[in-house]
Amino acid sequence: MKSGKPKHSLAIVFNVCALQFAGLCLAAPDPNWLDHDRTRPQPPIITPATPSTPEQPGQPPSDATVLFDGKDLSKWVSLADGSPTKWITRDGYMECVKGSGYVRTLQNFGDCQLHIEWATPVPAHGEGQGRGNSGVFFGLDRYEVQVLDSYGSKTYADGGAGAIYGQYPPLVNACRPPGEWQTYDIVYTAPRFAPDGKVTSPARLTVFQNGVLIQNNVELTGPTSWLERAPYQPHPEKQPISLQDHGNPVRYRNIWVRELGKPARNELTLPTALLDSYVGRYGDIQIGREGSQLTAVVGGVKFLLFAESPTRFFAKTTDVQIEFSGGDQAKPDRLTWSVGEGANEAKRSGPKP
Ligand code: MG
Repeated sequence: MKSGKPKHSLAIVFNVCALQFAGLCLAAPDPNWLDHDRTRPQPPIITPATPSTPEQPGQPPSDATVLFDGKDLSKWVSLADGSPTKWITRDGYMECVKGSGYVRTLQNFGDCQLHIEWATPVPAHGEGQGRGNSGVFFGLDRYEVQVLDSYGSKTYADGGAGAIYGQYPPLVNACRPPGEWQTYDIVYTAPRFAPDGKVTSPARLTVFQNGVLIQNNVELTGPTSWLERAPYQPHPEKQPISLQDHGNPVRYRNIWVRELGKPARNELTLPTALLDSYVGRYGDIQIGREGSQLTAVVGGVKFLLFAESPTRFFAKTTDVQIEFSGGDQAKPDRLTWSVGEGANEAKRSGPKP
């Protein structure tokens, strides 16, 4: 009997390791809590989602951020410059308009759960990558879950519906016929980068299509792209979610997202023209723009600013907060700023550079 116990334990250790190796068991129990600890906080109570029918989208869970409710396109803008999108809404869905470009969310999202429903054109038109092509992108336009009419239509395996484009074919083809509503439930884990730009943990995606697991926590090799395996380039953890214009009138409805991890502070990617209207000198503070973000030089220290609303910004390394106001919409003439406490006002003191 004595020799049997260690073998049994070894078998358990081996199985746990095998599960971890397979990526199925990534988290150990939290050592900060006893088993059944009576002081451990209860999970928040929410109302769960209700399922959709072909005729009617279901209700999002009560803690979701609704990105499209069938009518209101205000949470989406043109990816190119943040201007209003030319995609159209009709009968409870939004539809890609050929040549209008990708749409992106105004709000940024890092780790999240996304629910989205889509339908490819009917009657089906074209073949392979030309048939009902669109896509759901995370990290702005970097990481694509392919949307395609793959019902009885062939293309390369890593480019079909539910593929992580160019990297991972879906585990199965769970497609419905063109014109029918299909669901993606996606869990996205944003990649993390060290200050020197090296990847510390890659992007991960899990996808259910029509309730069927088709991508199981796969580790992306970098941005998805055509013809090549592109390397990672560092980017902020939170970025907009985008939908692709690939020239086909693909429809979307019932889009909602739940941010995962730390309590969320809203973060937006604002139109470049709006950011440029803030650039200038305000007393001792210099506001500039780097790409899609403003910068502020306060007390000789430069901060990268993140937008919380179209007028309010914050830094992530120090509790710096800045709000623009006054003037006309094209050129605000003052800001309120604070570092940790209080509030100070500064008027625009110089011309825009
Ligand atoms: Mg696509």
